[in-house]
Amino acid sequence: MLPAFNSQSPITLDNMIIAYLGQSVKTYLNHFLRYLDALELRCPCCGGGTIAHGSYERHVHLADTIEYIPIQRVKCNSCNKTHAVIPDFISPRKHYSAYDIELVLNDIEEGLKPEKVESEASIQTVRRWWAEYKDKLPQAVGALRSLLYRVFGKTVNELMITGIKGFDLLEHILEAFPRIDSGGFVMGEANIWLSSHWTGVTL
Ligand SMILES: [Zn+2]
Repeated sequence: MLPAFNSQSPITLDNMIIAYLGQSVKTYLNHFLRYLDALELRCPCCGGGTIAHGSYERHVHLADTIEYIPIQRVKCNSCNKTHAVIPDFISPRKHYSAYDIELVLNDIEEGLKPEKVESEASIQTVRRWWAEYKDKLPQAVGALRSLLYRVFGKTVNELMITGIKGFDLLEHILEAFPRIDSGGFVMGEANIWLSSHWTGVTL
């Protein structure tokens, strides 16, 4: 499924692959093994093939509930590194639904104050998400553009993105990538690409 791999990857602590493994937690719980089976997961570090390597449970906040979901691990046949395969509907390090986080960040981006945003997360948490997002956005944009060029030989027209910011900018860049299955929101799709080639950044 992945067209090429990047050998100039920076060192990172991210041992994860983000993948589309169903639209919702319910679909994920019922069918994630089938989704995994259908994907040809490549090692983001070296491009090697991978095999299943156990699983663990983690919690995820979904609106006002907490669910426990199994997370599959895979091991690279070439470099022996293990990677957790994270569904794109959860934010890789935050234990919250990526969709919920995206809605919150979208609201703030459109001018709502963090304390006015509707979320199950605390105001401090929302503020932290926003700070992290602002910090990571330029890195993510840069990494996606460089990935686009390295892997697909494509560039994004500077004129077309002048004055475009935030999620709109990400969306614009993602449009230049080949279509992939994803949960249909920007952070998830960006993370699928960012984690597939060891860019060292996820949103
Ligand atoms: Zn590897």
